[in-house]
Amino acid sequence: MRALTISAHGGLEQLTYTEDAPEPQLTSDTDVRVRMYAGAINHVDLFVVAGVPGVKIAPGWVVGSDGAGVVESMGSAVRNLKVGDRVLFNPGSSDRTCEYCLAGEMPLCLKYQILGEHRTGTLADLVVVPAASVWAVPPGVSWETAAAFPLATLTAWRMVVSRARVHPGDIVLIWGIGGGVALAALQIVKRIGAKAWVTSSSDEKLAMARAMGADATFNHKTQDVAKEVRALTGKKGVNVVIDSVGEATWKQSLLALGKLGRLVTCGGTSGPMVETDVRRMFWNQWTLMGSTMGNDEELGAALAALRDGDLVPPIDSVFPLEEGRAAYARMQSGQHFGKIVIKVRD
Ligand SMILES: [Zn+2]
Repeated sequence: MRALTISAHGGLEQLTYTEDAPEPQLTSDTDVRVRMYAGAINHVDLFVVAGVPGVKIAPGWVVGSDGAGVVESMGSAVRNLKVGDRVLFNPGSSDRTCEYCLAGEMPLCLKYQILGEHRTGTLADLVVVPAASVWAVPPGVSWETAAAFPLATLTAWRMVVSRARVHPGDIVLIWGIGGGVALAALQIVKRIGAKAWVTSSSDEKLAMARAMGADATFNHKTQDVAKEVRALTGKKGVNVVIDSVGEATWKQSLLALGKLGRLVTCGGTSGPMVETDVRRMFWNQWTLMGSTMGNDEELGAALAALRDGDLVPPIDSVFPLEEGRAAYARMQSGQHFGKIVIKVRD
């Protein structure tokens, strides 16, 4: 079958398009095999190519964490699905038996796996996933949108709704608008009726964010974001910060965060090590939170919003599978505004 693969870690030159990848087989009676129509990439896919500490890949590893397609075959124990169903994936899967899973907190599962990282990925003609990871594509939603949706929207949903508990009237500062998680966070914040303040190094992206409803925008290359935020809020600061950048933004995030503020991080694309003055943390009574992926309840709620048409991910560009490396290069460039989709078949 056709697939985008890596056989060693390194730069994007490791990404190889092949037409000779072995077809994945059903390995349990709860597996589902899906004929792929589209995939999408996320920052995690760049980390997989570079190499994630402690995560091993087998040569010919199929990459990609997001995708959508049609059910091609399935194990005998799979219920509620039939051959031909249009489906997308929860990129995360878990054992469904540990105490975290039973409490509905699948992303905390000790056996949690992400497609393309711990399991072979989505950028191929066929992919095998557990039935529990398979969700129906809402009627009328295109393959590109279905593939672009899950990872970034699920991540943002958990950050904004479940972790930060954003409510109407909150001011939420979102770093780096243009990335999938930041854009989904903007949409979810606006949907709640809170105010979304966003940053970018590109004035063009900030204009696009305003068109999507951003209430204030800051160019973090030319402006002191924390200073501007404090000026606009009468020195109070914002209620919530959504940060996936890490090292480069942490200090500014905390300077912009008001009393009783909540900061949620889902990653450190600029580097992992940050510094926090505990005196400011306790005095301002901050909550600093981590978040990753999401559970079934969160994905179900996000998909309902997609079905209603008010949480549709903007798409930056679509590349054919053969040009998958160019899609990764666009992600690495940081020039994108919206999801980068890879079309597997028409
Ligand atoms: Zn578990």
